[in-house]
Amino acid sequence: MQRQHKEALKNRLPSFVFSVYHSLRILIIDIGYAWAKVQLVGKTVTCPVCERSFRAFRPGGKGIEILKQYQVVGAGFRLNSICPHCRSKERDRLLWLYLNDYSSLLATPIRLLHMAPEVSLKPVFQNHPNVEYLNGDLDPKLADLELDLTQLDFPDESLDALICNHVLEHIPDDRRAMREVLRVLKPGGWAILQVPIAQKLDTTIEDPELEDPVEREKRFGQYDHVRIYGKDYGERLKSCGFDLTVVTPESLVAEEGIWKYALLRKEHLFVARKPRQ
Ligand SMILES: [Zn+2]
Repeated sequence: MQRQHKEALKNRLPSFVFSVYHSLRILIIDIGYAWAKVQLVGKTVTCPVCERSFRAFRPGGKGIEILKQYQVVGAGFRLNSICPHCRSKERDRLLWLYLNDYSSLLATPIRLLHMAPEVSLKPVFQNHPNVEYLNGDLDPKLADLELDLTQLDFPDESLDALICNHVLEHIPDDRRAMREVLRVLKPGGWAILQVPIAQKLDTTIEDPELEDPVEREKRFGQYDHVRIYGKDYGERLKSCGFDLTVVTPESLVAEEGIWKYALLRKEHLFVARKPRQ
């Protein structure tokens, strides 16, 4: 069912009908994951987030034409993608490997804001002894704090770190969000702002004013995306004031690690730092 038809139906039906539908949907998803854990018993792949091993991860993403055409990394259908236990995706596993095993970013106490928190990563940050953990989302049902990335309710230089993945492609004025992240970070603080990136685009394509969800899916790969980032994504972060380090999966793990953790070879981690002065 198309998104606008779903919204129209939602407005016509009594709210309890939709809440029953929502609960049933979650139950069916949970049963699917429980069944996958049984079906995928094995030792071929390992999730570094929950440290469980399986025969394979679950498939994930949707096969959208424009995402295939531009070879967008981190979006579209992938066969070996989602951990049946903690539901980590390739990007969550790459991020956790980097933060926990290969960098010293969690070695000292930090105040971290996690926007649009991934279900797989939320518990590992919450339980980390060095992390004072805050999480927020535009939708208050999805996080502890109701927060807008373009207008964060935090004083200047009040956070050591911010993680916000696959959100900027939804925001019409993404540079405003980048500058807002810079504002709340302390000098020397870091942010990880992952986005899907098209291998076939040198320059980002966007239309921040486009509102039609069908047209958005056709042009940008999802009903609520307003752009597809190209290879110039890093330049956009730098133009907003960040120093940037790009981390590749190969720089963290050897070939067998890429298979073992089912990482996407072309998915790079953008570690953006606020300059010290
Ligand atoms: Zn896992």
